[in-house]
Amino acid sequence: MATTAKPSPSDYTTEAQSIITSLLPGGLCADQAWHKLAALTDTVGNRVCGSPSLERASSYMLSVWQAEGFDNVHGENVTVPHWHRGNEECTMLNPRLGYRMQILGLGTSIGTPEGRPVEAHVLVVRNFDELAALGKAGQVQGKIVLVNYACDWSTNPVGCYGACTKYRGEGASRAARWGAVAYLVRSLASASIGSPHTGMQTYASSKAEDQIPAAAVTVEDAEALARMQARGEDVVLRLSMGAKNLPARQARNVVAEWRGRELPDEVVLLSGHLDSWDVGVGAMDDGGGLAISWQALSTLRALHWRARRTIRVVGWVGEEFGGIGGRQYFDDHREEKVVLVIESDMGAFRPRGLSFSGGEEAASVMAEVGSLLGGINATLVARDGKGYETDTQPWKAVGVPGASLLSENERYFAYHHSHGDQMSVLQPGDMDLAAAVFAVTAFVVADLDEALPKGDERGEGGKGKMKEEKERRTMRKGNAGSGLAVS
Ligand SMILES: [Zn+2]
Repeated sequence: MATTAKPSPSDYTTEAQSIITSLLPGGLCADQAWHKLAALTDTVGNRVCGSPSLERASSYMLSVWQAEGFDNVHGENVTVPHWHRGNEECTMLNPRLGYRMQILGLGTSIGTPEGRPVEAHVLVVRNFDELAALGKAGQVQGKIVLVNYACDWSTNPVGCYGACTKYRGEGASRAARWGAVAYLVRSLASASIGSPHTGMQTYASSKAEDQIPAAAVTVEDAEALARMQARGEDVVLRLSMGAKNLPARQARNVVAEWRGRELPDEVVLLSGHLDSWDVGVGAMDDGGGLAISWQALSTLRALHWRARRTIRVVGWVGEEFGGIGGRQYFDDHREEKVVLVIESDMGAFRPRGLSFSGGEEAASVMAEVGSLLGGINATLVARDGKGYETDTQPWKAVGVPGASLLSENERYFAYHHSHGDQMSVLQPGDMDLAAAVFAVTAFVVADLDEALPKGDERGEGGKGKMKEEKERRTMRKGNAGSGLAVS
C-alpha cells in the first residue's frame, strides 16, 4: 500500500480509512496525542517567549521526536522578545476598600514606575470614541482608563475576538495620549469565572509619552466598575506592575520530518505553535495544534507509510508576540518547494474539516480530500477566509495553498490566554479525530501524482495563474485532462 502515486484524492479511500481506523478508539494510535501533550505540559508547564521554559520545551520536543525515530529532527534559531511579567497587584481603595482585583498585565507592557504603586481615579469608557471625546474634554488626564467594550459573545463566541482585539492591542497608547496614567481593558473572553485573559499589546512608539502600564481585568470586574461609575461613585485603584521588557533572546522553532520516498525536497507542512502565554499551561493555545500535527506524523510512521513528498512538522516559537517564528521560517525557507501549509491555532476540538486558502484548482482537490473524511464528519473545506492562524500566513500571502483546522471551537475564548488553559479543556478522542484530519490531508496531498497547484499572491488563485498552471501540465503530460481531477 501507498507505493504508487495516484492521480486523484478519491483514489485514496483505503488509505484514508486505515488512518482514521488507527485513530479511533481501540486503534493502533488512539489516545496518544492528548497524553503526549500532557507529558509536555506537565513537565515544562507554560512556555512564554524568551523564557527558560520555552527553551526547555524546544529541547524536550527535539528529544522525544528523536526518540520516536523521525527524520531530520532539529531546531532553528529565532530571536524573540523577552517580556517578564513580574509581580502585579490591583487593589480597590474606593468604593470597595481593600478589594483585590485579579489582573494580568498585557505582553510588552511596561511596569508602574520602579514597580511602585500608582493610585488614581478610574474612568470607564465603552469604546475609543468615548475615550477621545472625554480626552478632548480633559477628563482623561491623570486617570486609570478602563475600556469596557461589550461584544455579544453569546451569539458570536469566536468572531467577537476580532472585534475586540484593538481595545487590548492599541488602547494603552491611545489613553496615554490623553494623559492617562495606566490602562485597563475588559478581558477578551466568551465566558468568565473571574479569570483575566492576557494577550499582546503594542505601543504607538518607543517614546515615553506613548507608554503607560496596561493590564486586563476580568469581565466581572469591568462590569462592576462600569456600574459603580454609573451610580456616580468615585472609583479609585492602587495598581502596581513589575513588568519589564528585557533584551531579546534566542529561541528555537522545532522541526521533524517523515521524508518523502520519491520527492523528498517537496514538502507538506503541518504546524502549531510551541510558545504560549505565561499563565495556564498553554494546552489549548497552542499545545493542541502542535500535538495533532505531531500525531499525524506519528500515525504515518506507525503505519510504515511514506508519501512521495516529505511531510514536515514545525512547532513555532514567538507566535504570541506577533508570529515571529513563522515569519523567520518563511524568510529562511522561501526557496523550498512547499506544496501545502497546514496549521491549527484555534483549538484542537472535534473537527469539522478545514478552512482553505488558495486557488480554484487547489480548492477542488482539497474538497475531494475532504470527502475522504466523511466517516468522521469532517468533510468541510471552507473558503471563508476565517483562518486566523498567523504562522503560515507569509506562505499563503505568496500563493502557497494553506489550510487550518476547523473545529467545534465555540469555547475557545473562554480559556484563551488565561489560567484556565489547561489539559482539561481538551478531549483525547476529539484530538485523535483532528489528528486524523491532518494525517489524511497531509498524506494524500504529499502522495498525489501532481503537486497541489499554487494560487496567486495574497492567497487567492486568479484566472491567469490557473491558465498558466493548466498550460504547464498540458506541456508536461500532453493531456490537460490528466493529473488532478478538477471539477
Ligand atoms: Zn495561539
